[in-house]
Amino acid sequence: MSDRVESAHRNTEDPAPGTRAPGTRAPDGRFAPSPTGPLHLGNLRTALLAWLFARSAGARFLVRLEDLDRSRVRPGIEEAQLADLRALGLDWDGEVVRQSERMDLYAEAIARLDAGGHLYPCYCTRAEVRASASAPHGISAADRYPGTCRHLTAARRADLERAGRRPSLRVRAEGARIAFEDRLLGPQEGEVDDFVVRRNDGTPAYQLAVVVDDAAQGVGEVVRGADLAGSTPRQVLLSKLLSLPEPRYAHVPLVLAPDGSRLAKRHGAVTLADRRALGETPAEALAWMARSLDLAGPGERPSAAGLLARWDPTLLPREPAVWSP
Ligand code: GLU
Repeated sequence: MSDRVESAHRNTEDPAPGTRAPGTRAPDGRFAPSPTGPLHLGNLRTALLAWLFARSAGARFLVRLEDLDRSRVRPGIEEAQLADLRALGLDWDGEVVRQSERMDLYAEAIARLDAGGHLYPCYCTRAEVRASASAPHGISAADRYPGTCRHLTAARRADLERAGRRPSLRVRAEGARIAFEDRLLGPQEGEVDDFVVRRNDGTPAYQLAVVVDDAAQGVGEVVRGADLAGSTPRQVLLSKLLSLPEPRYAHVPLVLAPDGSRLAKRHGAVTLADRRALGETPAEALAWMARSLDLAGPGERPSAAGLLARWDPTLLPREPAVWSP
């Protein structure tokens, strides 16, 4: 495995821009798409922002394919996603990493959590969790686990196993309140529920894999869509339980459809392939992104490298952009 397994030195004590000591590097960044469908302009704008944050600071930029959910991964999508990044002029360092090739790392982390007494088996079905969920805080009510299996007796567990139920593994979060500083959203805080780290089919959950990978790959700054800010307290808790360095976070504004909902495939011609079919070049799609970020005026067509010269993270618009074709 070629991944570097170092990292704490860069992640924890990163100075403010402009105050970095000569010879030290800015925290590495990454883009981590799930190859379950084509990237739309909102996803691609997030990729552009992650690239701008990293490259403008002289940092490495990595691409990781989050392909653990085998039932949703679709053939050919990975290649299309990488081709889209290239078409926009976004480059990355080293080989692309695939989570499906890193199962040992996740198993080791799960074993460590288990050895520390931080996990318990949960036999609830999704429908049962939904039926009993209440009290929304950050994570939507339907996704918040009410703790049903936290105190099961060994006899009750055996009954459930005999009935053919296969458990997922949940973190005993003890209602932890986790605070973190977001570079764009400011101070954030959320209560963490007992979330799943291994699904009942044995697949490591996104929350676990993302934390393990960011640490193993030496990612020091996670730039991603604001829709994932609600997951961050869970991930910070996992970093703490696993004694991994905590990255910095910057949750960037999303792209919305004209109806105010999050941009999605159903909103029409929103992928680069769709735009091409309408006769639009990737440079034109990039120009739309640049305008939406106040980095270009009407009629301008700056390249990604050209945007780098104009980029100032402190001037990033804090409101979502609206896609209007
Ligand atoms: N794979 C996740 C997604 O496509 C992103 C994970 C992350 O950036 O932390 O939504």
